[in-house]
Amino acid sequence: MKMTMPTDLLDSFGRKHDYLRLSITDSCNFRCLYCMPDEPFKSTPSIELMSSQEIFEIAKVFVNKFGISKIRITGGEPLVRNDFETIIRQISTLGTSIGITTNGVLLHKYFDLFQECGVKNLNISIDSLDREKFRYITKRDLFQTVWENIKESIKRGFNVKLNVVVMRGFNEDEIPEFIALSHHYPIELRFIEFMPFNGNSWEKEKVIPIAEMLSLISQHFTHEKIEDHKNDTSRKYRVNEESKGVFGLISTMSNSFCAGCNRIRITSDGKMKNCLFGADEFDLLKAFRNKEEITKLIQLGMIKKHKEKGGQFSEMESVRNQSMTNRSMIKIGG
Ligand code: SAM
Ligand code: SF4
Repeated sequence: MKMTMPTDLLDSFGRKHDYLRLSITDSCNFRCLYCMPDEPFKSTPSIELMSSQEIFEIAKVFVNKFGISKIRITGGEPLVRNDFETIIRQISTLGTSIGITTNGVLLHKYFDLFQECGVKNLNISIDSLDREKFRYITKRDLFQTVWENIKESIKRGFNVKLNVVVMRGFNEDEIPEFIALSHHYPIELRFIEFMPFNGNSWEKEKVIPIAEMLSLISQHFTHEKIEDHKNDTSRKYRVNEESKGVFGLISTMSNSFCAGCNRIRITSDGKMKNCLFGADEFDLLKAFRNKEEITKLIQLGMIKKHKEKGGQFSEMESVRNQSMTNRSMIKIGG
């Protein structure tokens, strides 16, 4: 059989894309304030979502034709999908590295599967270490379950990253406690600037820029910069040489990392998004169901990628959340 070499997936700024973020659902067992829209939320009917086979076939095109080497499964909450095991088993045959982004509540059901399928990278979201605050942000009283699953993930040797969305007046006082975790456990703790999406009541006053986070951290800990990888979104530090883990700051709002972007997203209803903030969507699922070639559509989607933040804003000062054209975060897949 004749093998064709993959073609690089380049945009018009010469950025090579080799990282696919695949959302498999927009349903969730949490109701995080910063992610769900304010209005009543209806998840997409399953007939409009990619089936497990469609997920696999579309991902296979990205891997075989465009040399995608890294896939992250996200949502919504990916672990709520009934056929999650089938999806992971199929994706694991593609030979890429696989990561999962999850709220952690159902992780205990899947540790063995992940180990069997070579899934090593678990990004787990936790915005507060205080049970009441955790309940307030997620609208679920499930802090203890998430915390136990985080500890078990570490014990089993997964590469664990903890995602913390920092919001002024809510959890910036917990930054030192989170940093202490990165000293005691072999994890990467990631503080994320609060981002604007449809209906999430974003205000620039609620964003804590990473420079402010760093100065807050300096009041409690000495810290040293460590090397970042080329496509990293986080700028990494550690408390000191004895630290088992590291912490990172993700500055999407105050200082974007668009220049090194290598990410492509597919929503759970099969639309390719070339940028988290972009309004443009390319309907891969429709094309696939019509038995059309999706490679051309993927390349078109790449060429249309804007230089920065989906062409919607540049500086944080210019963000007008109400007038941005985008989905809510839960419908994009973070
Ligand atoms: N349910 C999974 C979870 O919570 O990790 C995966 C989906 S969630 C949309 C992916 C990531 O996006 C989470 O780490 C979440 O904290 C982050 N996120 C959601 N809304 C955000 C916002 N407005 N600003 C910054 N990060 C956000
Ligand atoms: Fe669900 Fe994750 Fe969004 Fe929270 S951040 S509502 S857990 S998808």
